[in-house]
Amino acid sequence: MSPAGHTLLVDSGKNGHGPRIRSALQAAGATRIDHFLATHYHEDHYGGIDEVVQAGIPVGAAYDRGDKDFLPASTRNSASFKGYQQALGYRATHITRGMTIPLDPSMSVLCVSSGGAVLGEEPTHPGHDENDMSVGLLVTYAGFRFWVGGDVETATEAKIAALDLARDIDVYQANHHGADNGSSTALLVDMKPSVVIISNGNHSGFRHPRASTLARLNALTPSPAIFQLNRYMHAGDDAGNVSNAFIADPETADADGTIVVTVSDVTRSYTVAFGTTSRTFPVKAAGAPGALQIARVLPDPTDGPDRQREAVTIRNPGSTPVSLATWLLRDLDGRVWLLPAHGLVAPGQSMTIRREGMAMSLENDGDTVELLDPAGRVVDALTYLRSRPGVEIEHAHFQ
Ligand SMILES: [Zn+2]
Repeated sequence: MSPAGHTLLVDSGKNGHGPRIRSALQAAGATRIDHFLATHYHEDHYGGIDEVVQAGIPVGAAYDRGDKDFLPASTRNSASFKGYQQALGYRATHITRGMTIPLDPSMSVLCVSSGGAVLGEEPTHPGHDENDMSVGLLVTYAGFRFWVGGDVETATEAKIAALDLARDIDVYQANHHGADNGSSTALLVDMKPSVVIISNGNHSGFRHPRASTLARLNALTPSPAIFQLNRYMHAGDDAGNVSNAFIADPETADADGTIVVTVSDVTRSYTVAFGTTSRTFPVKAAGAPGALQIARVLPDPTDGPDRQREAVTIRNPGSTPVSLATWLLRDLDGRVWLLPAHGLVAPGQSMTIRREGMAMSLENDGDTVELLDPAGRVVDALTYLRSRPGVEIEHAHFQ
């Protein structure tokens, strides 16, 4: 739930989990779901939503990874998938990398991966595995950064890591329930999460979380606080558990494995709470991001197609170098232009970045472009009304 009381539900558990969602909504004081996102088409991610809809909870916008014509018949014809389709799926928006969910003006909800393609990947190499094609979201608020990526696995994680799309995360909801084929070291060293939350259950076939995944998490410096929703109860296999003090439902005999994370922009901290347990962590805020500005834009280049050759020049007016990694440009339609992950702008210097196929365009007949820092805050904006071929538009700053 956002500061203004708007709600986003990412995934809805298995068939039968509808009542759990309703009690979580009730505990938060919410009466509706403004945005629902199904990360991918496995029943443990969309199963409960038709029960929520049938119970009369209003659901606003719905999003999923689209491409349903390519699903195997076993999925398309299953009763649970049909239930999802009838409840929300038929009207769901196909969310693609770079799109944002307009949850709240004080927050940024950015789609980093969808269908196996990640933000800034050009040309794209879509995935083939249903888990790995999950929608991955970076949610930011007041410097706090949360990752939720459904069942994304190592192939998509490697691309996210290579493009530095999920650095310095506060809370990481472990990909794929803590399975061994997610939470790869390449991604984890980028994220350096302070808190990891594993949505796991107690299934002897899946064996979540794997001991190997817990070992990779514990090997990070600094090591994160790791929480599980449930205790894995079977013995003598390759699964593992954290200590009971970090498990929301240590007896795993009922359905009370719910963890609530609450962020305060006043204290710049967040609590992780379940039962009578509550632990508080400081927001990392990735050091001081420094200030950058939009210096000028070129909406109508004459040396090639707009899609490739449009350009934005970013200036660093400060006194320390600023990395462009995870900074974004965004237009009012929510399309984004990722700045180069390895760009470093020296104090007093500027860097010109060509569009090279990024989704956000600089419209020739006028546009508004916002510059977002790694915390998702809009730090600068430029509005222009028209352009001329080959002419850059300067942005006047009065400081
Ligand atoms: Zn799953």
